[in-house]
Amino acid sequence: MSAAALTAMQQGLQSCEVCGLLSRPAPGEAAGEADGRCPRCDEELTFRKHDSLQRTWAFLIAAAVCYIPANVLPVLTTVTAEGAESDTILQGVVLLWSPTGWPLSLIVLIASIMIPSAKILALGYLLISVQRGSIRNNEQRVRLYRMVEFIGRWSMVDVFVDTFTASLVQLQPLMSVAPGPGLFFFAAVVVLTMLAVESFDPRLIWDPVSQQSGSWRKA
Ligand SMILES: [Zn+2]
Repeated sequence: MSAAALTAMQQGLQSCEVCGLLSRPAPGEAAGEADGRCPRCDEELTFRKHDSLQRTWAFLIAAAVCYIPANVLPVLTTVTAEGAESDTILQGVVLLWSPTGWPLSLIVLIASIMIPSAKILALGYLLISVQRGSIRNNEQRVRLYRMVEFIGRWSMVDVFVDTFTASLVQLQPLMSVAPGPGLFFFAAVVVLTMLAVESFDPRLIWDPVSQQSGSWRKA
């Protein structure tokens, strides 16, 4: 059991973030201070991502701040014969809601409002629990991080959906569509949450466990 509790960090091993190779940093360099290089792909090796918590917080707070104008400001301005009309994301969801258009309305609601807010909340929870040195629900927290990371890869879906919506509206006669200021903030939320996910080091979740490896047990 004691062997299982030994982490790569305690054995002085570092994993490469690019190719995944687990190796010992070059001899002569003090562990944790000077950065070695991956013997296979020459990527810089670090025990933990530099300033992971600070950088993740910075991106996350910026994303949360941009989330407000992204939802309050109009994302689309539609021009009809009667005049111009600006709609926020939520107004767009309501506008699209019809017996035939409800699936698209639901996709926009999930991709544009629910997923970004869920990502912000999940990352906030991970950051706070890591900073408190929590050793509870570690497996669930790693699973949560993987889920957020997986969703991040599909973030461009949001852009696709918005473009699709714009082209759909364009099909109707006497109408033109222009992006509103909210779209800029929405794009910022997508990019900032992706950067926050990239900055977070999930290995930090396990550090409090290895620090008190004497009381290590399978949770
Ligand atoms: Zn490598």
